[in-house]
Amino acid sequence: RDPNVKKADWLRQKAPQGDKYEEVKESLSRLNLKTVCEEAQCPNIGECWNGGGDGISTATIMLLGDTCTRGCRFCAVKTSRTPPPPDPMEPLNTANAIVSWGVDYIVLTSVDRDDLPDGGSQHFALTVQALKTLKPDIMVECLTSDFRGDLTAVDTLLYSGLDVFAHNIETVKRLQRIVRDPRAGYEQSLSVLKHAKESKKGMITKTSIMLGLGESDDELKQAMADLRAIDVDILTLGQYLQPTPLHLTVKEYVAPEKFVFWKEYGESIGFRYVASGPLVRSSYRAGELFVKTMVR
Ligand code: SF4
Ligand code: SF4
Repeated sequence: RDPNVKKADWLRQKAPQGDKYEEVKESLSRLNLKTVCEEAQCPNIGECWNGGGDGISTATIMLLGDTCTRGCRFCAVKTSRTPPPPDPMEPLNTANAIVSWGVDYIVLTSVDRDDLPDGGSQHFALTVQALKTLKPDIMVECLTSDFRGDLTAVDTLLYSGLDVFAHNIETVKRLQRIVRDPRAGYEQSLSVLKHAKESKKGMITKTSIMLGLGESDDELKQAMADLRAIDVDILTLGQYLQPTPLHLTVKEYVAPEKFVFWKEYGESIGFRYVASGPLVRSSYRAGELFVKTMVR
């Protein structure tokens, strides 16, 4: 951590609890299913698994292995140019486990797989199709890579039956090269989100930005304007936290009131929903957000 930046006390974690949380946790222990929520010791697990007032529980599952072909400077996932090949049984096995688990809204995400010809989009699509076949009312969000800008790969996913297409732009335009792997980029991410909106009628699109990396208010406003210009529906904003001393340092711990300001600002310029808070992550209470987005 930058020694000049003091860690804020509002980032302390609360112990998860709640009826639905206990139920989901109990049933998970019987299945061979690993969640990002538990693996990453996510502080939101109680809120997401309980599902708030509506009781719409959300969890996140990682597909395509644990080894990424990219190396972003904010991310602690292990990297390799040649990760092991995907497990062909993963789509069906994962879908079976998820539907017997009883969660209402599932976020499927993955490492970037630049080694695969389609970036893994078919693997994602097969998982969505299996989920929707086994349990038609489950809601599915896919949080994907940029598929190196390959819009055919994006289409494979868009026509799989998913409910929300999410791809994270991560930071403002100026900081892209510092924060993300050089194979990622602002324009490429915007083009993927734009295509998702235009290619499939009614598709809900979503993205996420980390705060505290040195971005200015004007730069963030510009990024939000660029996202609105391509009709992105849902935005999440959270505090960047340095995963290890080797990763980018935190430049600022943004105050909770400022996150409230950004939520109001974002919704005033047309986002259908903005989730904004120090501990908000891209999949934070995603099921509730989706349902609220649909009734707005
Ligand atoms: Fe799981 Fe995402 Fe919620 Fe964290 S924010 S508990 S990873 S669904
Ligand atoms: Fe981490 Fe995603 Fe970057 Fe890979 S592409 S290093 S998983 S943020």
